[in-house]
Amino acid sequence: MLDFASLLVAIGFSTAFLAAILLAAWRMSRRDGFLLHCATGAFLVAASVGLSTVDGFRPSAWAQGLGLGLLLAGEACFYGGAAQFRLGTSPSRRIVLATVISVTLLLLPLLAGYNGLAYAAGFTASAVLIFLIAHQYWLARDQAPMTTLGIAALYLLVGLSFLPRAVLVLLRDGLVVAGPPRNWAQDLSIMLIIGSIPALGALTMALSQIRTAQAHRREALTDFLTGLMNRRALFEAYPTRLPPACVAVLFDLDEFKTINDTQGHAFGDRVLSLFATALKQDLPASASAARIGGEEFALILRETSVETAIHHADNVRTRFVRLAADEAHLACTVSAGIASSGADGMTVDQVLADADRALYEAKRAGRNRVVVRHACHAASSAGSMAAALDNADA
Ligand code: GH3
Ligand code: MG
Ligand code: MG
Repeated sequence: MLDFASLLVAIGFSTAFLAAILLAAWRMSRRDGFLLHCATGAFLVAASVGLSTVDGFRPSAWAQGLGLGLLLAGEACFYGGAAQFRLGTSPSRRIVLATVISVTLLLLPLLAGYNGLAYAAGFTASAVLIFLIAHQYWLARDQAPMTTLGIAALYLLVGLSFLPRAVLVLLRDGLVVAGPPRNWAQDLSIMLIIGSIPALGALTMALSQIRTAQAHRREALTDFLTGLMNRRALFEAYPTRLPPACVAVLFDLDEFKTINDTQGHAFGDRVLSLFATALKQDLPASASAARIGGEEFALILRETSVETAIHHADNVRTRFVRLAADEAHLACTVSAGIASSGADGMTVDQVLADADRALYEAKRAGRNRVVVRHACHAASSAGSMAAALDNADA
């Protein structure tokens, strides 16, 4: 019922177009290197199909072998692209290894003169390679669940369709065949591939779009200089009331304007980075650290007592003083204000406003210290004083 030649032409054109589209997508978003490997894979598959069309769709033995080899190399590139999407590392070794192993499996029977067996080996190797591609997208499902699972399912289906092709060529045609095998499994598999190509192309492009959107969002929520969360990210992380046992610490570098004025803005930037380093050290896993203004940093500590927060803030303070002296030969200090979210919980905005009042007190009391805005809390440590402020305005 089906014209085999037309099917081959259809598959050849659709893979060539897919390759061109993936290549264009990669040129627009070069950080998505997996698109380039998928485009290369599609070009190789299109070339493989092209070889099947020579000599009135009756290619010579060498063209058949070369066609199968190109198909396997193309699938190895798709496999490398999938691994690169998942891991973000160069897939060259995987591609070379997958190509060498699969082409060797194809060459051995071909060189022995059993081209039917070579077809069976090529189809089986194709199925395995396509399963490996599906496996990579399955493993990457946390990155874009619906899209990666859709791609994995399609590859799985296509991979499965190669298995009856391998079996039928041996059962029907034997170890030696006169030309490319023709049977219902071939037709079914090729139709499935033709149907899958537009869907795989669209889903792969969607993956790239999702990646780009995720990268833009990450950039919009990250402070460029320090790599910490920015103000927006901190407020997005706590959209409602904070849990009751949360403590906010607000840090502000002392006399920072003078540092900028005397040593320059670039030096000031370096000092800000040093403070971020001091802040990140020994950070509890559940804590959120953000740069919320020029030289202002906030820390939200969950399920933490005020005493622990004082201890933590004072460690950051002394660590920064030491780091600034060692790394920038600078005498620079930092003040901190602490406030608790209270028993009823408060919004991050409210608790930071309280911490800001405590910070103001720390500045007024002479800087380089930690001050708490919470009833009945006081602490002190070498070189600093943690003062207790009443909940009423100081
Ligand atoms: P105080 O001890 O009262 O906090 O005094 P201060 O000088 O630290 O405070 P002030 O608010 O007067 O100055 C803050 C300075 O921080 C002013 C601004 O130029 C500088 N600043 C803000 N953002 C950046 C930045 O991204 N890089 C650098 N290098 N400086 C910045
Ligand atoms: Mg400030
Ligand atoms: Mg300051």
